[in-house]
Amino acid sequence: MTKKSSLVFVPAPAVGHIVSAIELAKLLVARDDRLSITVLVIKIPNSPSLNSIIDSLGAASLTGIRFIHLPQLELPSPDMAQSVEGIVSIFIDNYKPFVKDAITQLFFTSQSQTRSRLAGLVIDLFCTSMIDVANELGIPSYLFFTSTAGLLSLMLHLPFLDTQIHTNFKDSETEFVIPGFINSVPPHALPSAIWSKGQDGYTWYLYHGRRFSETKGIIVNTFAELEPQLISFFSSNGRTPPVYPVGPLLDLQGQMHSQLDQTNFESIIKRWLDDQPPSSVVLLCFGSFGSFGVPQVKEIALGLERSGHRFLWSLRQPSQGFTNPTDYTNPKEVLPEGFLDRTAERGLVCGWIPQVAVLAHRAIGGFVSHCGWNSTLESIWFGVPIVAWPLYAEQHLNAFEMVRDSELGGLMVELRLDYRGGGDDLVTAQEVERAVRLLMDSNCEVRMRVKEMQKMSRTVLMDGGSSFTSLGCLIKDLLDES
Ligand code: UDP
Repeated sequence: MTKKSSLVFVPAPAVGHIVSAIELAKLLVARDDRLSITVLVIKIPNSPSLNSIIDSLGAASLTGIRFIHLPQLELPSPDMAQSVEGIVSIFIDNYKPFVKDAITQLFFTSQSQTRSRLAGLVIDLFCTSMIDVANELGIPSYLFFTSTAGLLSLMLHLPFLDTQIHTNFKDSETEFVIPGFINSVPPHALPSAIWSKGQDGYTWYLYHGRRFSETKGIIVNTFAELEPQLISFFSSNGRTPPVYPVGPLLDLQGQMHSQLDQTNFESIIKRWLDDQPPSSVVLLCFGSFGSFGVPQVKEIALGLERSGHRFLWSLRQPSQGFTNPTDYTNPKEVLPEGFLDRTAERGLVCGWIPQVAVLAHRAIGGFVSHCGWNSTLESIWFGVPIVAWPLYAEQHLNAFEMVRDSELGGLMVELRLDYRGGGDDLVTAQEVERAVRLLMDSNCEVRMRVKEMQKMSRTVLMDGGSSFTSLGCLIKDLLDES
């Protein structure tokens, strides 16, 4: 009889993290029917749009994967953490007893219905405190890293940098040498959470970076051909746990998370895109947390207008605290006067879009993006070049890597790599116009490189491709067959 093995996943409650974790789960069970997976679902309180996405992921019936919802806890009070990273990490840490209890019930009591061997706990990069649970239960833990090999290298290197560099990283006069990067990394490309030593965000990055090395393996949503120098650094350095680049892991089907998404897309967005010439439209979309103040919205609008290009703009309004931006009821209120009328023939302004379905449309020719890693992989998958406009989290490092640190030459068009927003940090209409014109130029070199990378992103998943092979090695390790 073939030996069955189970894995328990603990994804972080954020769209860009949980969606790719479920894709990893699907890929594993599809590749080897000896594997089955339990996903322990944690949700953020009072976050209806995120939670409806999480519910829709769990609602689809997936052979070999089951979802268990953990009790809803409150977010930690603001005096416990001053950074998003801190709030998320403490929130997840509070789930340790619930995760332990769920796993014990499922696998380790006489009433447990799961008879297969528990091969390990697969945890998100913000869930490293779950390594304690794995240790208490005597099972290995694997990290599922949802961002770049570049960020992974930075986080693994952070404990060393911490001992070597005594100024705040933001004020460093020298650039940072991060293993696996071709070029040294300027301070502005680091996540702003680690700019100031000792602050809350820094402490949590350091904490997680330290703990990564305690895992038995690190699974990364990237592919060797996209970050070659970083992946070869990991395979040769002998210090880190084995790194498995198994991407791109993308949710290509399931982006219509609600009936409203589906209806909006079919009746408005798709209908409009169907009327546009091939590769003529620039998409502007800034991730699950991206939004701008009114002065910046006006500059973008003017830049788009002056560029003369067709556009589809996912415009969302800033929200308070920890919740995602929401759609405007009336975007006219924040756009320059007459903008919607003047651009009616060639532009569409909307709210949340099913981004994958939009990028897949033949009318889309370019993408102004915040450089979230999922968005970056999705644009490569569909061969759509990006103008890089990083906003938050690790996006500045992603943009730096794709614009300045690729062996093949830039994979994104540069707009502003050091934008942090706030105060008078505005990207002007002129900058937007220039970047959009460059992007949509048919001779744009970035476009040609992205088309090459698009082919690679598909080949790597096929039998014999680098990610296919890497997934095979991971499964061998999980099943203890090495
Ligand atoms: N997304 C979407 N519609 C939107 C904004 C985002 O479908 O209007 C999806 C996008 O396709 C991607 C994910 O949300 O899969 C965002 O992940 P990413 O890593 O790019 O950025 P994050 O939201 O984590 O900053």
